[in-house]
Amino acid sequence: MSKTSNFNMGKKDILIVDDTPDNLRFLATILNQQGYSVRKALDGQMAITACQNLLPDLILLDILMPEMDGYAVCEFLKANEQTQKIPVIFLSAIDDILDKVKAFEVGGVDYITKPFHAEEVLIRVKNHISLRAAEQKILNLNIELENRVQERTLQLELTNQELKRELYERQQLQGQLLYRAFHDPLTNLSNRTLFMERLDDAIKLTQVESDYQFAVLFLDCDRFKVINDSLGHLVGDELLIAIGKRLQILMRDSDILARLGGDEFAICLEKITDINYAKIFADTILKELSAPFKLSRAEVFISASIGIVLGNRNYNNPQELLRDADTAMYRAKTQGKSRYCVFTDDMYQQAIKLLQLENDLKRAIERQEFIVYYQPIVSLSTGRISGFEALVRWQHPTQGMISPVEFIPIAEETGLIAAIDTWVLKTACIQLRNWQKQKLVDEDVSISVNLSVRLFSQPNLLEIIDQAWREIQLNPQNLKLEITESAIMENGEAAAVILQQLRKCQIQLSIDDFGTGYSSLSYLQRFPVNILKIDQCFINTLESNPRNTGLIATIINLAHTSDMKAIAEGIETPEKLAQLRDLGCDFGQGYLFSKPLAAKSIVDLLASSPHW
Ligand code: C2E
Ligand code: MG
Ligand code: MG
Repeated sequence: MSKTSNFNMGKKDILIVDDTPDNLRFLATILNQQGYSVRKALDGQMAITACQNLLPDLILLDILMPEMDGYAVCEFLKANEQTQKIPVIFLSAIDDILDKVKAFEVGGVDYITKPFHAEEVLIRVKNHISLRAAEQKILNLNIELENRVQERTLQLELTNQELKRELYERQQLQGQLLYRAFHDPLTNLSNRTLFMERLDDAIKLTQVESDYQFAVLFLDCDRFKVINDSLGHLVGDELLIAIGKRLQILMRDSDILARLGGDEFAICLEKITDINYAKIFADTILKELSAPFKLSRAEVFISASIGIVLGNRNYNNPQELLRDADTAMYRAKTQGKSRYCVFTDDMYQQAIKLLQLENDLKRAIERQEFIVYYQPIVSLSTGRISGFEALVRWQHPTQGMISPVEFIPIAEETGLIAAIDTWVLKTACIQLRNWQKQKLVDEDVSISVNLSVRLFSQPNLLEIIDQAWREIQLNPQNLKLEITESAIMENGEAAAVILQQLRKCQIQLSIDDFGTGYSSLSYLQRFPVNILKIDQCFINTLESNPRNTGLIATIINLAHTSDMKAIAEGIETPEKLAQLRDLGCDFGQGYLFSKPLAAKSIVDLLASSPHW
C-alpha cells in the first residue's frame, strides 16, 4: 500500500551532463570535494541512459550540446514519470543565448551561467538538493498521511458495515422477540396477550363511538383430552394447528383470531350491527369444524362449544368480556356441547351463585354437611336385597338438600372430589360393617361406591381404598366400585394399572351409566370389569321404544358372555321389573324397590325383610 519515494538519503548522487570535458572535470572535482557522488555524461542520450540505470538526486545539464540539447533532455525526463521529479539545473555558457523562460518551461529548477564560480555552483546545488529533500519529505508525509487516511477510512467502512449488520441482526431479533411475545408458537395465531390488547382497543372505541359494537367468541374444543390421551399429543397439536387454519379462513381482515392456550380459541368480530352476525358466524364455525380432520396419522372428528358476548360501552376491561364469553361457553357445554350460547345477565348471577356454592363446598367437609344415602340393589332371581349403592347428599345450611348432580361437577373441578369420595367410601364401608355386625345383612351383601373420573389421576387412590377396608375390616369382596366409561377412557393407561391392582385385591368393578359413554367396547377386554350397570335412559323408555328391549338384551348378553353381571338402573314399575327378569338381567335398582334412603330408614327397610 505504502508508496514512499526512493529519494536517496545517504550520499547524494549528482549527474553532470556537458559535452565539454573540462567543465565536467571542474564540476566533478568541486562536487566530489563536498562529499557528493558524481556521475558524468557527455551528451543527452548518455544522460537519459544514466538516469534510467539509477535515478540521480540532481542533474546539472548543459544546454548547448550536439544532437540533443539540454531542453530536449529535460523535456524527455519530465515526460517520464520515473524521472520527472529529478531537479534539473541548467548550465549555460553564454548569458544572452540562455532562454531563461524556456529553461523553466521545460521543467528546470534553476540555471548557472558559465564561467562557473565554484561557490555559486555549490550553493545552488545544495539549495536544490535540500529543496528536493524537503519536497520529498512532504511528499512522503503526504503519502503516509494518505495511506493512514485510507487505512482509517477502510477501518471505518468495515466498522460501519459491522455496525449496520449488528443493527440489522438486532432489529431482526427484536422483531422475533416481539412476534414471540404476541403469538402462539404452535399455531402462529395471536396469543392471549395480543388478544387482550386488541379487546382493550375495541373497548376504547366504544367510548368514542357510542353505537360501536363488537362480539367476542370463546371457543373450547369438546373432549379434546380424549384425543390427546388416545392418539397422543403430536396428533393433538396437529389438530390444533388444523383447527386454527379452518377458523382463520372464516375471518374478515378486521377480525382477530387468537389461541388462548390448550384447546381454547378466541375471536373478536369488530364493528358488527347486532348479535345475529355473531350467532351466524358461530354456526358457520360449528359447521366448518364438523367435517373430519385428515391429519397425517389419523382422521379425527372434533366439535366445539362457543360462548358469545356482545362488546359495548357497558364493558370497562377485556377481562370482564372474556370472563362472560367463558361463562357462556360453559353454558354451551352443559347444554350438551357442540353448540353456541350467548351470554346473558342471569348467567352472571348464576356464575356468582356457583362461586358461592364452590366456597360453601370447601367448608362442607369440615362442617360435616355431607350425608350418605343408600339405595338397595336387588337380585332379580331371588327378589332379595343383594347390596346397596352409596349416594352422597349435601345438606346445605341455607339451601337444603343439594343433589350430587349439582355439586359433584363443582367438586371435580375444584379438586374437592377426592376428599368427598374418600369420605363416602369410608362412611359406606363402616356402615355396611356395622349392619353386618348387627346381623342386619348377610355376609355376602355388598356396598357399591361411586368413584369420580378425577380420582383415577390421583396417585394414592389405591392406598386410600386399601386403608379403608383394612381399618374397617370389611372383606374386599363386599366392596364394589362404580366408575363411568369416560373415567376409564380419559385415564387410559393409569386406569389399566389401577384396575388390575383393584382386581388383585378382589374388589369388584362396575361400569356405571353403561351405554351412554363415548367409547369403544374394546376396553371391556383390557380392563377387569365385573358388572355393567345399564343406564336408566334405556330402562325409562323400555315400553315406548321397543328398540331398547333389543339393546338391553344385547347388553345383558354381552355381560354374560364376558363373564360379567348386569344391573338395570331406574326400575320404577312392576312391568319393567317383569321385562328385565324375562331378559335375564341379574340385578335391579330403582324407585320400585326403594329410593336412596338414610341409614336409619334402611334399617327399618331391612327389618321388614323385603322381597320383590
Ligand atoms: P349414579 O351412580 O348413576 O346413581 C344413580 C342415580 O339414579 C342416583 O341419583 C339415584 O338416586 C337415581 N335413581 C335410582 N333409582 C332411580 C329411579 O328409579 N328413577 C330415577 N329417576 N332415578 C333413580 P343421585 O343420587 O342423584 O346421584 C346422581 C349421580 O351422582 C350418580 O349417578 C353418581 O354418578 C353421582 N354420585 C352420587 N354419589 C356420589 C359419590 O359419592 N361420589 C361420586 N363421585 N359421585 C356420586
Ligand atoms: Mg352409581
Ligand atoms: Mg348410573
